[in-house]
Amino acid sequence: MKRILITGAAGFIGSHLCDRFVKEEFHVIGMDNLITGDLRNIEHLFPLENFEFHHHDVTEFVHISGKLDYILHFASPASPIDYLKIPIHTLKVSSLGTHNLLGLAKDKEARILIASTSEVYGDPLVHPQSEDYYGNVSTISPRGVYDEAKRFQESMTMAYHRFHGLETRIARIFNTYGPRMRLNDGRVIPAFIGQALRGEDLTVFGNGTQTRSFCYISDQVEGIYRLLFSDYVEPVNIGNPEEITIREFAEEVMKLTATGQKIVYRPLPQDDPMQRQPDITRANEILHWEPKVSRAEGMQKTYDYFKSLSPEELNKKEH
Ligand code: NAD
Ligand code: UDP
Repeated sequence: MKRILITGAAGFIGSHLCDRFVKEEFHVIGMDNLITGDLRNIEHLFPLENFEFHHHDVTEFVHISGKLDYILHFASPASPIDYLKIPIHTLKVSSLGTHNLLGLAKDKEARILIASTSEVYGDPLVHPQSEDYYGNVSTISPRGVYDEAKRFQESMTMAYHRFHGLETRIARIFNTYGPRMRLNDGRVIPAFIGQALRGEDLTVFGNGTQTRSFCYISDQVEGIYRLLFSDYVEPVNIGNPEEITIREFAEEVMKLTATGQKIVYRPLPQDDPMQRQPDITRANEILHWEPKVSRAEGMQKTYDYFKSLSPEELNKKEH
């Protein structure tokens, strides 16, 4: 049985990756320090023989006994309010944490895939963003703690590939959504759905003309899965190219939830990127991958998930 270590296993994307690799009959070692994750995302896996969980902070030395074939490094805060609240941790998990995992991969002769992000393009001056765009990122802005850590992570990963001959893969993930996102993590989809369910107005930041392109979790997992087993070393964008303004998106959520809200406008956070849309030509050519789930279908599933949460969960405020 192939053995795979998944860091950030109790988080949103990590938990869905655990499900996929368990189903594919890998022995899955999930690792998480639970700083933004929740064990409830993976508790259904605990009884299984091919799953084990290690409560561990990857910025500390990572030890795994026995052989290891693959590593997926997904540990890192991912929502702006999370990484603004824990900026130094955010810098450490993608730098020191990545270094530890690259070292482990070298020791075990394992292939490693790291979760990079569209944030390496910053507030992009090129649209849509293809992998050869170098990005527009401020090193010293509040958001820079995430963006620069992820850029360093990519450099470190390529250095291990070139210097040590390590088998590496880099997924540049664009906004992904679905069940198991934290209702109060501040990201726009849980924010809008949570507001609708609580009977609050939807808070659009700025004038809502900024754009995003939302990828449903099952498409994201499929893209990552194919990238891991491809032989392509350079970064690959994984996201859904269907772009929408945040104002239009708020209107879609109001229609979906039909709870009678209106939009209220709030100040745009510093460095909030104005536009974001992946060019997925590379993923298409190399992985024969493209997203399959429409926003309407994905949002319905996500809404159904949030509706099933308890009233306590729904009213829990984090910020
Ligand atoms: P998440 O916050 O739900 O999950 C991250 C997980 O990592 C959490 O369970 C958290 O407890 C864990 N973690 C954080 N620091 C850790 C540490 N030092 N040691 C061990 N575990 C630690 O976020 P997510 O949306 O699932 O994102 C997962 C990965 O995907 C991140 O690397 C993120 O940068 C990347 N990504 C996500 C998106 C997205 O839209 N969701 C977009 C681009 C990139
Ligand atoms: N946003 C918003 N209202 C909210 C939360 C977010 O208008 O209550 C906006 C935010 O300013 C950004 C977009 O939605 O322009 C996506 O934000 P998110 O935090 O989900 O992701 P990111 O900015 O990292 O793409």
